[in-house]
Amino acid sequence: MDKFSISVFLWFKLIVGLRKRGEGTRESGGFLLCKPGKRKVVKVVFYDQFDETVSATGIIQFKGAAAFFEYLANENLEVLADIHSHPTTNTQQSDSDKRHPMIRLKGHIAIIAPNYAKDLFIFPKNCSVYKFLGNFDWKKFEVAMSPIHLNLF
Ligand SMILES: [Zn+2]
Repeated sequence: MDKFSISVFLWFKLIVGLRKRGEGTRESGGFLLCKPGKRKVVKVVFYDQFDETVSATGIIQFKGAAAFFEYLANENLEVLADIHSHPTTNTQQSDSDKRHPMIRLKGHIAIIAPNYAKDLFIFPKNCSVYKFLGNFDWKKFEVAMSPIHLNLF
C-alpha cells in the first residue's frame, strides 16, 4: 500500500484551481508538492504558473519544466504527484498520459479528475490514481480516503 496525506483544504484548493482554469472547456493540471522524502502534500501549484499556454489547445502541453524545476530547487520541494482533468467521467489514462509521465521517476503518482473538475464536489475516490513503474508501465490504485489521508491500495 502506498499512502500519502493531503489536507482537505489543499485538496479542494487543487480541485477549485483545476475547475477555474478548465472553465468547463479544457484540461488543466497541477502538481502536489512535498518536502524532500516526505509523503505529505504541503503545497499545490498549477501548470499555468510555469507555462501560461499549457491548456491553450484544450489538452495539456507543458513547456514550463525548466521554470518549474528552478522553482522546486528554490523552495526545496519535491513532486509527490500530478493531477489533471479529463473532459468526461472517463478518468482512464490516455495513451499520451501513459507515454508521457509529467515526472519520469519510478513511484511518481498521476491523478486524473473527471469532468474538467467542474462537479461541485470531487473527492479522491472520484479520480483515478496511477503510479509510474518505469518504461510505459503504470499501476492503477484503488483509493480510500479518510479526511486527511489518501490511501492507495
Ligand atoms: Zn489525460
